[in-house]
Parts: sequence; structure tokens; C-alpha cells
Amino acid sequence: MTQIATEMPKEMPKEMPKDASASVVAQHEATLEALPFSDTRDFDEAARGFLGTIENAKITSPQGRVVWSLEPYAFLNEEKAPPTVDPSLWRQSRLNMHHGLFEVVPGVYQVRGLDIANMTLVEGDTGVVVVDTLTSIEGARAAMALYFQHRGKKPVSAVIFTHTHTDHYGGARGVLDDATLAGGNVPIIAPNFFMEHAVSENIIAGPAMLRRAQYQFGPFLAKGVRGHVDCGLGKSMAAGSVALLRPTDLIIATGDRRVIDGLEFEFQMAPNSEAPAEMHFFVPRYKLLNLAENCTHNFHNLLPFRGADVRDALAWSKYLGEALHMWGGKADAMCGQHHWPVWGSERIDTMIRQQRDLYKFAHDQTIRLMNHGLTAAEIAEAIRLPSSLDGAWHGRGYYGHIRHNVKAIYQKYLGWYDANPVNLDPLPPVESGKKYIEYMGGADALLERARKDFAKGEFRFVAQAVSHLVFADPDNQAARALLADTLEQLGYAAESSTWRNAYLFGAQELRQGMPKTSPRSAMPRETVAALRTGQLWDMFGVSLNGPKAEGKRIVLNWKFTDTGETFALNLENAALTYVEGAQASDADTTITLARSVLDEVIAKLTTFPDAVGAGRIKVTGNPSRLAELMMLMDEFPRMFEIVEPKRTPVT
Ligand SMILES: [Zn+2]
Repeated sequence: MTQIATEMPKEMPKEMPKDASASVVAQHEATLEALPFSDTRDFDEAARGFLGTIENAKITSPQGRVVWSLEPYAFLNEEKAPPTVDPSLWRQSRLNMHHGLFEVVPGVYQVRGLDIANMTLVEGDTGVVVVDTLTSIEGARAAMALYFQHRGKKPVSAVIFTHTHTDHYGGARGVLDDATLAGGNVPIIAPNFFMEHAVSENIIAGPAMLRRAQYQFGPFLAKGVRGHVDCGLGKSMAAGSVALLRPTDLIIATGDRRVIDGLEFEFQMAPNSEAPAEMHFFVPRYKLLNLAENCTHNFHNLLPFRGADVRDALAWSKYLGEALHMWGGKADAMCGQHHWPVWGSERIDTMIRQQRDLYKFAHDQTIRLMNHGLTAAEIAEAIRLPSSLDGAWHGRGYYGHIRHNVKAIYQKYLGWYDANPVNLDPLPPVESGKKYIEYMGGADALLERARKDFAKGEFRFVAQAVSHLVFADPDNQAARALLADTLEQLGYAAESSTWRNAYLFGAQELRQGMPKTSPRSAMPRETVAALRTGQLWDMFGVSLNGPKAEGKRIVLNWKFTDTGETFALNLENAALTYVEGAQASDADTTITLARSVLDEVIAKLTTFPDAVGAGRIKVTGNPSRLAELMMLMDEFPRMFEIVEPKRTPVT
């Protein structure tokens, strides 16, 4: 998963959440019958090796800001699921309440439940190898302190990043202090292309993804049985300060080995699986297998709701098969960077085989049904996991889900279009909403029918139908209230935490509008610095307001004094393009500066005019052309409407 900054809602709901309906309660009762709730090994394993913890897992920043706490989730102490939460999700939410320092095997420890992700600590001859550093510096510091408290203070021999998501590297500065970093003796080991992917995954589409992520993770939902209970992979997103450290040693190929502090590590590359750059490893001394985030206690996401490049289910499955081939029967313990470990080679191998086949089954059967002509929505309706996978707790869709993962697979191969020309160019929601209401005989007639279907528990269609009315007339309070009630029931019924969060947040926004938030903050300087200069031009390109740029031609030559790079940046036809390593002969202006100055401008620590005034940017030619180009850039809002029409027209 990736990191999204969060803050709490500034006001409480005007209309409080409601009870679960009879049909939802009946569905939960059927779930209790269908799934193997008497198998409680996960609870034993989640608690095994417990050494100690921080009270309520509460971590605060030096400024007193709470960056993590499980205190608001005390309602999960109750064993029996309430009617408003799917019992299977309730079970997972309770498992994700375990927190503290745990022994995996003597010499290997994990900090779990102090973040959505885990920190794994592998002891060498003299120090400790830290695998993944949690989301925040504050969290990582707290995790290290907890470890030292129980295992004694020892030097960090190396840091390993298993993959490129923030919850796995964001806290590195809480593991390595300034003095250690300055010494330069502690290797930072990561999979090949780590830097290329660590930041770029969320850059170009960042503003849209951040807003969509609120629906995926539910940070603005109240915590409770009618609100937020879990994120599937862990309790919730962590807050706090994040910094990216550049790896010093990249693992290139499967089979590569390193001896660190006397410990041998064998690596397996798993690119384009859960992350674009990811790797697994085995430590022979401890018979410890770590499959990063590719073999977790849930069906992971092939396409998270926040939006992302779709992931490769086929490759994912192959890596798990290869891991089984390389290390099957050899491991005494297997841990990942989320959830709890499993022990014993038989249980380990079974879990890997089932996870391997979960991704393979979803992939192959989606393609099979696709080749029979089914569309994504039809495949989601038709597909059923085999009972051997459906009944395995770690195969359940708490984060990803079979019903949306098959749509991701469809998208990977065939894209958004289902080939029915009716869907080639449909009217957008507001226009089609108005026509639907007209055809249905007006708002009141629609609401009357919808209420009857609501009473029968036909929530999926009621949501579709009433949404037309909300888009046709967002001020129709009866429509908003009924759609909110409907999404709420869908949320209560959902086994997947991401579905629940999306439905419940949709209901909340219909009832009380979007949360009041501070405006989007500028990209942190360290993040900007991690991007290639070409990626910065791409960012300007997607901020360019096309209509405003109509008819303009601006050509700027750029010379970077520190990196030695040159670029010709060209605006014409309302499109901003560039050529690297070139200077245009017809440029309006040449701009000479250090790359770090451009970083500061993007991070809003200075402006182009101020930096020119301070002599940090040299401009030859027409000095107004740069300002003219910058005037064409859009600022993106942090919030925009999702369950109702855009209130502010976008041009
Ligand atoms: Zn993660």
C-alpha cells in the first residue's frame, strides 16, 4: 500500500449512521455458517512470540501529534461481530489489533501493529538488519526503541527495503540517524529500479489518487462499528513525517546473495507484482523466508481503488511458484511485511501454494470467461473461487477482492471498453441522470420504486437508480438520504475493508458534504529531488491548462549547473514537450540554474521571480516568457465531488 496524508474530520456527522437491515443481518448469518470460524490458528500465530508493546500502540510526534494509535479501536475487543460489520471482516479487524514486538524465531523479530506495515529485525553477528522502516520517522523511532528495550541496544548493520511503497521506506530516517548516515557504513539494500519507482508511481496522477484514496482507506470515517474498522492489510494508514533514503546497494537478479553482518541473504526478484520493484529473501541461518507483500493474509489488490497501474496477476503467481521451488520445505518460519507469520514448512508451503493459485486462478478464469465473450461486470458476477481457496482465510478479499480483481485483469488485457458500442460514447452522469428521471416519470416516481426495492434489500440496483437522481438534482434531499442509506447497507454487507470504506464514505459525503480540509500542500522537497528532471517537465505538462494555452508558443532552454543537464522545453498546440540534451535555436529565453533551485520552486520554498532576484537563476533573452508559461499552470484542489456532480465547473 502507499502513504496518503490524513487528518481527522473537523465536524461530526449531521445525520448519524443507521442500523443494519434485515437482509444484511441474514447475509452475515450465512457467512458465519459458510466460513471456518472454528479454525483459530491465525489468532494463535498473530499472538505467538509476543515480547512487549507500547500502550495502545500510541505513537506521538515531538509536537504532540498522534501519528498512530489503536486506542480508538477498543470496540474490537468484542469477539462477536455486530450486525453492521461482516463477520469475516470483523475477524480480520481483530487480528490486525495485535501490536508490539514479536519473536518470529530466536534472532528474528517483528514490530507489528504500530503501522499498517511491519518492521522485521534480523540479528547478525554484531548488530541488526532492519527490513522495511514503516511509514513514518516517528513510527520507526518508536519501533526501534521497543526492539532495543527488549533485545538490548545494538548497531544497525543494514537496512533492506523490500519494495517501493511508502509504508516500507518512509521511516528510514527513524532507523538511521544523521551520524550513522554521515558515516556511510550502513548499506541500504533495495530491489533494482527502486528509486525510479519509489516516488513516480503517485506523481503524475497524484491529486486524483489522493482524493480517491480517501474512499479506499476511510481516514475521514469515524472509527466504530458503523464506521471504520480496518484496512484489511492492517488497521489504517499512519500519519507522520516521511523521507526517502537512496539505496546504496541494488539487488539485480534472482539468486543474488549478500553476506551482511555474518548473515547470508538469498534474494528473489519480483518486479511488477504488488509493486513495480519488489523482492523476496531467505536467510539460511534462521530458515526464515520473507515474501515481502506478495503472500499476505488476504487477497491483495490487483488495482487499488485509489487508482494505479494495473498489477500483473500472472507474474505475481509465477514469483510465488518460483519461491516455492527455491525454498519449499526449507523454511521454519515465513513472514511478510504485513500481517503475522506462519510456522512449519508444511503450513508455509500450503499458504504459498494457495496464494500462488489464488492469483493464477483469478487470472486464468478471467481470461477464459473474457474469451467466451463475458464483460468485466459479467465476469465479476460469474466467477467463484474453488472451495479450497475460498475457505482459506488468507485468500479472503479484505483488501483486494475477487469481484474487483477480475475487473483489473480484464482492464490489463482489454481496457475500459466492453466492446458494446452502446457504451462507446454514453452521456455523462448529469446529462444521462436527467434523461433517466424524465423517462422514469419524475423524481417522486423513482424514489417510490427505489424505497420498495430498498425494503427488499436490492441495494445494488437502488444505488444505481437513485444515483441518477442525485446527479440530475444534487439538491434533492430525499434522493441524497436514500442513496446514503443504500450505500451504508452495502458497506455493512461488505467483507472487503476497501469496499466498506468506499461505501460508508460515500454515504457520509451525501449526508454532510465533503470534509473540510486544508488545501493541498506542496510536494516535499526531498520527494521532488528524488524525481528525474524529465519527470518534473511531465508534471508541468499535466498541469498545463489546455484552453488557456491555445495559440501560444513558448520555447525555453534550460541549463542545470549542478547536474550538467540541458533541456529544450516547447509549448505549441497547447502541449508542453521537451527534448533532453538539447537547446532550441529559436528559444525565447535561456534559464541557467541549479536543479536544487528548481526543486525549491516546485516545493514552494521559493518562487522563480525571487530566485531570479536573489541571483540564483540567470535568465537571458525575454525574461517574461517563463512567467507567461507558469501562468498557464493549473493548481489542483485537494477535494472534488465524487458521489454528486462537480459544484465548480472545470475548464
Ligand atoms: Zn505495504
